[in-house]
Amino acid sequence: MPSHRDLTFDNGFATLPDAFYSRVQATPVPDPYLVCHSPDALDLLGLDADAIRHPELIETLAGNRVLPGMEPVAALYAGHQFGHYVPQLGDGRAILLGEVRNAAGEGWEVQLKGAGRTPYSRGGDGRAVLRSSIREFLCSEAMHALGIPTTRALCIVGSDRPVYREDEETAALVTRLAPSFVRFGSFEVFYYRNQVEPIKHLADYVIVRYYPELAGLSDPYPEFLHHVALRTANLMAHWQAVGFSHGVMNTDNMSILGLTLDYGPFGFLDAFDPGYVCNHSDTGGRYAFDQQPDVAAWNITKLAQALVPLMSVETASQAINEYPQAFGKAYLERMAAKFGLPPGGDTSGLVMDALQLLAQNRVDYTIFLRRLCDFDSTIDASNTPLRDLFLDRAAFDAWAARYAAALRQLGFNDTTRGQAMRAVNPKYILRNHLAEIAIRRAADERDYGEVNRLHTLLTRPFDTQPEYEAYAAEPPDWARKIEVSCSS
Ligand code: AMP
Ligand code: MG
Repeated sequence: MPSHRDLTFDNGFATLPDAFYSRVQATPVPDPYLVCHSPDALDLLGLDADAIRHPELIETLAGNRVLPGMEPVAALYAGHQFGHYVPQLGDGRAILLGEVRNAAGEGWEVQLKGAGRTPYSRGGDGRAVLRSSIREFLCSEAMHALGIPTTRALCIVGSDRPVYREDEETAALVTRLAPSFVRFGSFEVFYYRNQVEPIKHLADYVIVRYYPELAGLSDPYPEFLHHVALRTANLMAHWQAVGFSHGVMNTDNMSILGLTLDYGPFGFLDAFDPGYVCNHSDTGGRYAFDQQPDVAAWNITKLAQALVPLMSVETASQAINEYPQAFGKAYLERMAAKFGLPPGGDTSGLVMDALQLLAQNRVDYTIFLRRLCDFDSTIDASNTPLRDLFLDRAAFDAWAARYAAALRQLGFNDTTRGQAMRAVNPKYILRNHLAEIAIRRAADERDYGEVNRLHTLLTRPFDTQPEYEAYAAEPPDWARKIEVSCSS
């Protein structure tokens, strides 16, 4: 019966010198209660399903006590925010409690987000509100279920302690799990301070623990940078293919492991809109949906620069110059699979032309692709459910004729193609309005049923769940008024 008392702590990050973090204590919150939890994430720590309900564990995940073996720290980092270097960021409201080593030998860092002020809080209160915590919890677990690399969310603990944003809200803490929360900005901070030793130290630490295949190389640093660039390219291909917009792609939110990290004003595309800006505060559209792959490339150059003390400028630029091709290849492969087409060849024209049509007709991206799974490629098929999504029916018909011809020429069977496509085109995504309904119910009525329902639904995003048909629909009109920004 493994419970929190059986957890084994390893705390690799806390073995680093003091320069990388501050030892901290969370600030307690009154009367914490469990809002929701992820059984799958619990499993990563080797905990039983009921373990999460133990008052001692809830108190721990509220920041009110520490378990034997935990060594709470707040990490130091810096970063480029909206293009400008900010020399001092760091975990302003996150506290790393320790690293759990599970029975499979995996290390999972356990981090509280919203645990109170730290030396890196600057003007902030160190808190997170229930609203943003629900969004982070749901999206982390939904992304994982979609097969997208991400930090995980174990649970949300709430407290009635007020937190002041635009309005008064209540406090919550998300317990996040990841092999490591090291960011591009964790390296940048030392580069701009002209401190080479910590850059090397951190690189060695990350390589040995997370890129062990490189640890034996005589000069592992260029390969390390190369691998980070490739993982980031892979992540961007996932985001673009699923229609995910992060919203705040600052270098301090870029994971050194290529994970989706720091969920704030993110959004999934409803209608396909390449210029979609999910972050209400991003007035210039720097982090618009279609900019993400290029922003990631820019961010990688900032990481490369921070690693230049470990290699020549030429070597660093060589290490990252494969990024555009790696992204392009990974993205086209994903898109081809989503369209039921073989990778490469001249099929990318069909995909790109479809995206253009979707944009012109403002067609819902997820619904289009899911209906495309049922596409009938026989001659004279009308494909009415798909066709109905388009205002410009003639343009759709022309594209559909080309697509049908391509499928027939490939000799694909519609049934098997459809099955394969349904495994890569989710029926359910965390649309803003779905999160909003769950948040309102939780915040106004203390009813967490909708959060739990959404969580359960989104852990199986590719399976048709007939009782949840409404969750696969286009957003209602009121959803257009939802604004999400950095204030969380
Ligand atoms: P973010 O945009 O959420 O990734 O946060 C950027 C920086 O601001 C990070 O260093 C955060 O730790 C810090 N931060 C954000 N919100 C708060 C808060 N309420 N209190 C203290 N620090 C915060
Ligand atoms: Mg952040």
